Amino acid sequence: MIPVKGYAAQNSASLLAPFNFQRREPGPNDVLIDILYCGICHSDLHFVRNDFGKSIYPMVPGHEIAGKVVKVGNKVKRFKASDIVGVGCFVDSCRKCSNCKEGLQQYCQGGLVMTYSSYEKDGKTVTQGGYSTKIVLDENYVLKVSPKLPLEKVGPLLCAGITTYSPLRHWKIGKGHKVGVLGLGGLGHMAVKFASVFGARVTVFSTSPSKEGDAKRLGADDFALSSDLEKMKKLGNYFDFIIDTVSAPHDYNAYLGLLRTNGVMICVGIPPDLAHILPQNIILARRSISGSLIGGLPETQEMLDYCAKHKIMPDVEVIPIQQINHAYDRMVKGDVRYRFVIDLASLK
Ligand code: NAP
Ligand code: ZN
Ligand code: ZN
Repeated sequence: MIPVKGYAAQNSASLLAPFNFQRREPGPNDVLIDILYCGICHSDLHFVRNDFGKSIYPMVPGHEIAGKVVKVGNKVKRFKASDIVGVGCFVDSCRKCSNCKEGLQQYCQGGLVMTYSSYEKDGKTVTQGGYSTKIVLDENYVLKVSPKLPLEKVGPLLCAGITTYSPLRHWKIGKGHKVGVLGLGGLGHMAVKFASVFGARVTVFSTSPSKEGDAKRLGADDFALSSDLEKMKKLGNYFDFIIDTVSAPHDYNAYLGLLRTNGVMICVGIPPDLAHILPQNIILARRSISGSLIGGLPETQEMLDYCAKHKIMPDVEVIPIQQINHAYDRMVKGDVRYRFVIDLASLK
């Protein structure tokens, strides 16, 4: 077994604290990765707090992993030692269901193995994430990273990036579309970057007046404070799509009315609560509410390559792991510009 240092939550009320654990020796198809950076996603906080009711403790969160291959199993074909790689939100899947076969592993029907707080396919080994020094996984679930991407900016692409890229591609969003982005955090700021590069006219809805300048700098054409009812009224029946990235309970009805006929609200934010929808808000203009989960392996690789080619990168604030609990406090307050990334050198 390989000794690994990490930071873990022991229960839903605990702070994250140092935690030593072990990972398996790489098998024939496995890759051992030295983790260099790991992004902090709001989902990490949801899982630590057991917002979805299925957390497994002790839990080392982290699914925005960038690192270097240090060892490969004897059947590994795609990687060699010293390759720069990424690992996102899942480390295995059934590989047999129709979604896995189509490269939509995120929707695996036979048991997706999430990067942490999940069980490996043996049904008993608990997965542990990227707030740690090393990870071992099957090469098929590892992404190739272009040397053109600064390594500290790679991790956030693997969750915040792909989660916004995937629905934008699915709905073929681009020139001629008016897109609203709800919430300017990790996901929101990537949605703004992608949607504007794809040619859409982007409006950011935010609860934070201080983010207006950033929204425009990131590529938005317009900014609306969600408390500005006059502006909200003016934007009625205006948008083709709204991408909702908000992490906390909020009123979906206030935004459904901003969609034009046939407009689509795409939910990616996961407030751990029921959403109350007034049916007439969708019925009266044949609007739809849709959702989207991260992205499959082929699309994640496509997104990474697209970002390297077009120089699309997240705005990050790099922190030592010892500041993790403070970073969580700031994330809860919406005070992230626009993704925290842990430098794992601080743990070595
Ligand atoms: P984040 O960086 O914390 O950003 C969330 C943003 O939502 C905040 O910056 C804030 O933006 C806004 N917000 C927060 N509380 C709010 C409230 N009470 N009312 C209105 N707006 C509020 O989080 P993230 O990492 O982007 O993740 C966002 C959500 O997506 C989380 O629920 C996460 O679990 C989920 N997620 C889903 C997927 C998926 O596959 N679907 C993948 C990753 C994450 P303003 O300051 O601009 O208002
Ligand atoms: Zn995430
Ligand atoms: Zn499957």
